[in-house]
Amino acid sequence: MKRSDYNKKAPIFRARLVAEGKKPRDEQVWPEFEDWLQTPGISTCTTPSCVVFGQPFPVTLNENADGVHRGVCGRCGQLTVPVPVLEED
Ligand SMILES: [Zn+2]
Repeated sequence: MKRSDYNKKAPIFRARLVAEGKKPRDEQVWPEFEDWLQTPGISTCTTPSCVVFGQPFPVTLNENADGVHRGVCGRCGQLTVPVPVLEED
């Protein structure tokens, strides 16, 4: 995905998530999985004792309402801070 594309789509998608989150629970309608805003990214485990410590892995990132991407290491289960990989235009 191009950075300009992402920068255009992400605020709209986040606003939709925030708006749904403010509704009563039984009125919330969340986007279908296939409509979720996703970006390719890289996730790297930062837990020194982990067998994959420091090794970057390609991942698919799902947009969150707060705009923060979160990940979990597939080996040790600790949180990672994945970074989106966007095409510069
Ligand atoms: Zn790990």
